[in-house]
Amino acid sequence: MNYTKAVQARRTFAIISHPDAGKTTLTEKLLLFGGAIREAGSVKGKKTSKHAMSDWMEIEKQRGISVTSSVLEFLYDGYHVNILDTPGHEDFSEDTYRTLTAADSATMLIDAAKGVEAQTKKLFKVCKMRGIPIFTFMNKLDRQGRDPFELMEELENLLGIRSYPMGWPIGMGQSFSGVYDRHNKRLELYNPENPKEIDVIQLEGPDDPKLDEAIGDEGLVAQFREELELLDVAGDEFDQELIAKGEITPIFFGSAISSFGVQTFLEHFLTLSPSPTPRESTNGLIDPLEHQSFSGFIFKIQANMNPAHRDRIAFLRITSGKFERGMSVKHVRIGKNLKLSQPTQFLAQSRSIVDEAYAGDIIGLFDPGTFRIGDTLVEGDSFEFDEMPHFSPEYFSAITVKEALKHKSFEKGLQQLTEEGAIQLFKTYNRFSEQQIVGVVGVLQFEVLEYRLKNEYHVDIQLERLPFSFARWAAGPPEAMEAFKKSQRNLVTDRDGRIVVLFENEFQMRTALDKYPKMKFYENSFIK
Ligand code: GDP
Repeated sequence: MNYTKAVQARRTFAIISHPDAGKTTLTEKLLLFGGAIREAGSVKGKKTSKHAMSDWMEIEKQRGISVTSSVLEFLYDGYHVNILDTPGHEDFSEDTYRTLTAADSATMLIDAAKGVEAQTKKLFKVCKMRGIPIFTFMNKLDRQGRDPFELMEELENLLGIRSYPMGWPIGMGQSFSGVYDRHNKRLELYNPENPKEIDVIQLEGPDDPKLDEAIGDEGLVAQFREELELLDVAGDEFDQELIAKGEITPIFFGSAISSFGVQTFLEHFLTLSPSPTPRESTNGLIDPLEHQSFSGFIFKIQANMNPAHRDRIAFLRITSGKFERGMSVKHVRIGKNLKLSQPTQFLAQSRSIVDEAYAGDIIGLFDPGTFRIGDTLVEGDSFEFDEMPHFSPEYFSAITVKEALKHKSFEKGLQQLTEEGAIQLFKTYNRFSEQQIVGVVGVLQFEVLEYRLKNEYHVDIQLERLPFSFARWAAGPPEAMEAFKKSQRNLVTDRDGRIVVLFENEFQMRTALDKYPKMKFYENSFIK
């Protein structure tokens, strides 16, 4: 296949949402459109028994959740779509954030009855930091939800993003009758008896009498026309450039469970979202359309997918070029050549061997322990992609080994798990006796840590929970930094020796900022 065409056909995105908004449901419907799965219900099973992929770890079996995210791909209308699944429930972790660094755009899925929820807000911030386009799907319109204008206001007030509704709902819950597609001037009718059967009526515009005929409820139609007029007069204009920069989010309304609005969303999404985007490196921007030799970076390492082999899989996002099985590439950090002979890809949960892949695609590499988060693999010219940021943990524990004699295995295990990105390791700064502190984004990671140290390194550990709830990377002019380091409490250093402050709450942080006005605190290790 022509390289440029193959790259331009790729769309790699993540769905960001709060648990229960309907991410699994939406993903299933998208895969169904692409024919990647035969029946719904196979994306993420809450009952794990049928799922080879999520069966790999005891903790998962006990809890019935999947500990790490997966990558799903499907073909639709000439496009090759990769969905990066971001874990949501108790398995929320730094992986969830890191996955977003491998996405070219994001779809924010919101339960229309609940609006913007906590986890969505956190994930949104990471997307915003990267400046990627963000699409919004307001879900569950078949149930009574909040007023769409109120939802738009919430996006603006809570997330600081303006919006452009691509469609507008007619009624909601009991009275939900359909969605008017502003772009195509099309009415999609919702039929509660048979929601899968969607009648599409082409209109001249919102005033077309065909609309009255189709809806049959004068009150609803009048309200719809009023609202649409308000949108046209007071709302933001459609602006593709602002959408591309992530400053305006196009909003879609629908009901994932009945597949209503999903296809319209998909079709608009595919035309508005970017094909694989360039990425900063030590050689400048690597644009996949210009730089045609292979390069990519590791954004996630998943351990023990197969307990019989205790193997690890490193997920690589191809940034440029074409991957071919058996090719030889350079592992830049360690300066060695590797033959990529056994890569896997993830199509609707079944592992299969991939023979070729292009920029935008994700491949899994069997990892005998040679990869770290952020590693660059290249063919030809040697360069490295920008470092992967660390994100503020939310839970902290002091960690010690129970038997002093096992100290070596303990340190080795901690180092491995830190490199895999399962945990962040900090050391107390300027304390009489140095202590190691583990920080995690999701509390389940503590259990993962305990389990893996015991099973893979035969080490028992003691974790003592600390009262902190977030970390901030600190930076400032040298004198301010010196004064800060001398008197601020609860300082630690990260793996690279950067100064990090641990806070129990916002109040503590504001107090510190008042006391040291020249200091700046960052939510992730990308200090600008
Ligand atoms: P996730 O936690 O975000 O992956 O959410 P799920 O896809 O598992 O959905 C959570 C719950 O919401 C399930 O009971 C779904 O059946 C339900 N759900 C998902 N989409 C819709 C929808 O469009 N309408 C209604 N009424 N329920 C939905």
